[in-house]
Amino acid sequence: MHLGNYSFEEFIDIVKNFHGSPAPGILLGAVMLEEGKKLLPPDTIFDVICETPKCLPDAVQLLTLCTIGNGWLKIFNLGRYALSLYDKYSGQGVRVFVDSTKLDRAPALKNWFLKLTPKKEQSLEEILTEIKNKGTEVISSHPVTVNLSLVSKNKRSQIGICPLCKEAYPIKDGSICRACQGEAPYLAKPEDLSPNLKTIAAKDALGKPLVHDLTQIIPGKSKGAVFKKGQILTAGDLCRLQQMGREHLYEPLKDANFIHENEAAEKFAAKMAGDGVGYDLPPQEGKINFKATRSGLFLVDRERLISFNLVPEVMCSCRQNYSLVTKDSLLAGTRAIPLYLAKKYFLQALSFLDSPLFQVLPMPSKKVGLLITGNEVFYGHIEDKFEPIITNKVEQLGSQIIATLKSPDDTQKIKEAVLALIQKGAEIIITTAGLSVDPDDVTRKGLLEAGLANFVYGAPILPGAMTLIGEINKTQILGVPACALYFLRTSLDLILPRLIAGLKITRKDLAEMAEGGLCLNCKECTFPKCYFGK
Ligand code: ZN
Repeated sequence: MHLGNYSFEEFIDIVKNFHGSPAPGILLGAVMLEEGKKLLPPDTIFDVICETPKCLPDAVQLLTLCTIGNGWLKIFNLGRYALSLYDKYSGQGVRVFVDSTKLDRAPALKNWFLKLTPKKEQSLEEILTEIKNKGTEVISSHPVTVNLSLVSKNKRSQIGICPLCKEAYPIKDGSICRACQGEAPYLAKPEDLSPNLKTIAAKDALGKPLVHDLTQIIPGKSKGAVFKKGQILTAGDLCRLQQMGREHLYEPLKDANFIHENEAAEKFAAKMAGDGVGYDLPPQEGKINFKATRSGLFLVDRERLISFNLVPEVMCSCRQNYSLVTKDSLLAGTRAIPLYLAKKYFLQALSFLDSPLFQVLPMPSKKVGLLITGNEVFYGHIEDKFEPIITNKVEQLGSQIIATLKSPDDTQKIKEAVLALIQKGAEIIITTAGLSVDPDDVTRKGLLEAGLANFVYGAPILPGAMTLIGEINKTQILGVPACALYFLRTSLDLILPRLIAGLKITRKDLAEMAEGGLCLNCKECTFPKCYFGK
């Protein structure tokens, strides 16, 4: 057996020199690589993908010109011992993997590969012999087409100097480097980033400015700033300070490594507030509150909110994502915790605010078509209860029902009704019932016949598991299961506001609704002032 230009034994020595020991993983990887090369058309200029960072990339780098450094070898850590060789221009190639159904042909190799016995009980010699003689027998392959847009080299990004560590880094990572954002694998030395604040006795502070708002709390009566930042203290003020038990005051800090709480809060607020979100200045007691400048659907970028709050000595809290809010209602608050915030933490926090954290989407008045399906209603066996329920919920959100159609459980009739509603200008169509596993339930079929696309069926919401969301051309479709008849609040209440606000709902959006997606069906419903859908 040859591995590249080497015999198996020569390659063992090369691996020893490179890796320190003749790692079976590298030798097996070399066998896989040779197999892959054989399966490619001759003279293919190939790149390689390894599905694990362990050993396999070493084999590729030793035996080909593909390295991690030159970008022709890429690691997608899928945890599988597999590699793909592919034409770097067309993406066509072959994937070679260790085939678990074939491992019995090489028992020592199997033991090592699946870690079935402790390492000290394994014989390296046996394993290497099996790799040499039977390596090709335990691997399999199949053709692949690599998604080139996923693996192609990132365009060279601009390089900047990180203001914290002063090292160069790609600017696309943010306003400071990823290490300084907290991703470095090094244990940080405990550092005290509190400023050296000087104090003066309150009685000597006549004519001096206050460096922060002073709060007086009278239990059960009041809490508020009785002195404002910047206020020049008068003789009367000194007397009042004494009554409040304040004997010392801070002197203003002049140190470029720190930033006053008000300045920090103002900078954060300017970055955090997006469309439909406003705030008042100056900060009150170091804090800035955000308010809705219009009624609508409140959105928060959860990931970046968490990143921001992972930075020491800053905070930001807000209402829940996708809450319906009214104009002027409180949305969020942010502040620095200490009076003077270390510049380091300030810049870290700012690095997560490249785009706004909060926005309030307007809730336009949408034209909603309603399609009620079911033989029992269509043929008048029972009275329809859906129309008043859905109409009421649509109108409460500021939209209007432009037409209500009824259809029997008949695929063709459902299709015709849906198309008729679109013809009438419906921007959203709500269909009711006919979505369960019952053989008579053909609503989904009818929607598909009418051209339903990009749809998801099934949601982790109770009640409402059999919800359907999709679109027919530009019309959004929401299929509401029959549970909406019996329960006050269902998936409809969670999803309809988002559709009206114009949001597309993906399976991931639905998956994220699982936690808090269980309604307790309380005797006295307080929705939306409960956790349902949050
Ligand atoms: Zn840095």
